[in-house]
Amino acid sequence: MDTETDLVFQPLEDALDHSERNYNREKIRAAYEYAKELHAGQTRQSGEPYISHPVAVAEIVVGLGLDTDSVCAALLHDTVEDCADKTSLDLISEKFGQNVAMLVDGLTKLVQINVEDKEEANIENIRKMLLAMSKDIRVIFIKLCDRLHNMRTLAAKKEDRRRAIALETMYIYAPLAHRLGINSIKQELENLSLSYLDPIGYSEVKNRIEERYGQSRDLINEAKASIEKRLTESGIHFELNGRIKSIYSLYNKMYNHNKSFDQIYDFYALRIIVDTELECYTALGIIHEMFRSIPGRFKDYISNPKPNMYRSLHTSVMSSSGIPFEVQIRTFEMHRVAEYGIAAHWKYKSGETASESIDEKLQWVSRLFEIEDDTQDPEEFMDAFKIDIFRDEIFVFTPKGDVIVLPQGSTMIDFAYAIHSGVGNKMVGAKLNGMIVPIDREPQTGDIVEILTSSASKGPSRDWLNIVKTGDAKNKIRQWFKKEKRTENIALGKAEIERELHRMGRPYTEEQQNEIVANVARRVGMQDTEDMYNMLGYGGMPLSKIAAKLRDEFDRVVKEPQTEVTADKVKLASPRRVKATGGVIVDGEDGCVTKFARCCNPLPGDPIIGFITRGFGVSIHKIDCPNVLAGQANPEQRDRFINAHWEYGAADSPADVYEALITVVAESSISLLADITSALADMKVSLLGINTQKKGPDTMLVNLTVGCKNIGHYDSIVSRLRGIKSVLSVTRGFGK
Ligand code: MN
Repeated sequence: MDTETDLVFQPLEDALDHSERNYNREKIRAAYEYAKELHAGQTRQSGEPYISHPVAVAEIVVGLGLDTDSVCAALLHDTVEDCADKTSLDLISEKFGQNVAMLVDGLTKLVQINVEDKEEANIENIRKMLLAMSKDIRVIFIKLCDRLHNMRTLAAKKEDRRRAIALETMYIYAPLAHRLGINSIKQELENLSLSYLDPIGYSEVKNRIEERYGQSRDLINEAKASIEKRLTESGIHFELNGRIKSIYSLYNKMYNHNKSFDQIYDFYALRIIVDTELECYTALGIIHEMFRSIPGRFKDYISNPKPNMYRSLHTSVMSSSGIPFEVQIRTFEMHRVAEYGIAAHWKYKSGETASESIDEKLQWVSRLFEIEDDTQDPEEFMDAFKIDIFRDEIFVFTPKGDVIVLPQGSTMIDFAYAIHSGVGNKMVGAKLNGMIVPIDREPQTGDIVEILTSSASKGPSRDWLNIVKTGDAKNKIRQWFKKEKRTENIALGKAEIERELHRMGRPYTEEQQNEIVANVARRVGMQDTEDMYNMLGYGGMPLSKIAAKLRDEFDRVVKEPQTEVTADKVKLASPRRVKATGGVIVDGEDGCVTKFARCCNPLPGDPIIGFITRGFGVSIHKIDCPNVLAGQANPEQRDRFINAHWEYGAADSPADVYEALITVVAESSISLLADITSALADMKVSLLGINTQKKGPDTMLVNLTVGCKNIGHYDSIVSRLRGIKSVLSVTRGFGK
């Protein structure tokens, strides 16, 4: 093919010729040929061959001074239709390298967004999302060039499409261009959008300005000439030009800030561009000397740059003939930044000498995105302009095109609750980019998520609390449980408290539990224990918040177990000297806490066995105790029995006294109790408890608790009691 006669490519060829950059012309040409081949047969709505569009975009890209890869990506940006079209991307990567493929991929992913009826916050999210999706900031630059060309050729589209595209441009792309400091593109996008969105308002402002300019053109030129003369005399090297200000900015002042056209002083601006910052202030002095300045209109953006690094001096003055105009004074460097923003780096790369300029831009970028990250190597940074500033957030679409911002790691459930708690509570499934996925799937930036709901849904599951990432979703799920599941919550909360009480290690009664819980509830300011159970159940209050109070109340209410003394009629002969623990050796357990089981009250000499209780050491039973026999038959308890035997000498030590239970059945007699107590007193046996019942018309049953040294001692007590005249039987343990 004869490259010289390709009329479509010619304008790009010219732009490349006039660029200050050295481009890889062969690579660009190859990208063009490949794009042309892929777009063959396609036409734009205007009837032109489709390839004219990517070429025009590439031309604007060259105008911004972006690199060869960006120009190639611009040429190829519409060749990969589908995001999932890996084949085309692979081919591009093969032919033009990974970088170009990455840029094209990024451009393809920037889908069309419907911004109509969107709230400002959501629009801001969309802007952020576009930045976040473009892993490389060149993607955004190329996208802006693409959008600019589409806007320039928007007339060919149908009316409804025009409006949608113009709106999106006004709300998304022009502000992005503004943030990136690319004034040249920003203003053109704004003016083009406005001309479609409010054609009447647009032409009204345009006509009035032109009319006004027509009337004052001579006077403005006069002022301009006098400035030129004075600056030349002062010896400053400068450039002076004038222009009517952006129609959109004037429209904005008139319609959005309610100013009359006569109140707008700066429809015309003169721009003085000089070499140094000092000369800016010198020139300003000259202007203020020559003209009357309008109060309150002076702005020093040199010492106070705008967030997008715009720097310039602004002042508004009145000519001697009464024409107001604005004067902007800046250096050539400031001017480049004002026109091209961040892209000025590429455009005038050769002109940059010191690294301070790079540092300055780095600051700019971080200010632009309000982050501080000086960990990056400046060179590397300038290389790729990776934007990973939104790495903690993901931007996910609803099917309607709203953007939901979520923390990284959020799930489908978080998304559902971010839309509305009603959506989350009725959620039965989720689609990710049209495919059904598990609800714990984590969407990525740019994904489209659709939540499937059903009115038959029984509501969220408690497991969701462990899946969701955002506090918002957690709260909403808890709210639901709080409202909908009171009975279930109460049961859950109660179970949680009971688990905690069991861990305290002492047996307690239901009344004691109720008392403990009521006390704790009062202490945390709740009237009703059910409310507290409920709150624990739905997760509104963690158990840890009341754990210390539970322990506290437990210790108050459930005292250490004590020997029950039931004899209320008989004064006890002596103070208790019962050794409740000790005297027993438990296999493998050195110094462990033991207690004597109250069911069988073993005495030294009795064959014994230990049972490992929960939280209260080892209880010692007689080996033939009915509870031991039952326990050993129970598979859950069998393993908790442990060998135990009496300490050597325990049976003989007079100091150790153990509790023994004795049941006496006797004929009713007035002297029976006196006979028993005097018999025990004779033997110097401590009587610890006594209880009598009528057994029949003529018989009585007496339960005795006595202090006893060992089984031999016990036997002698028993035989002595048997010697009492009215006694019918004496047995061990308590009888009924
Ligand atoms: Mn395009």
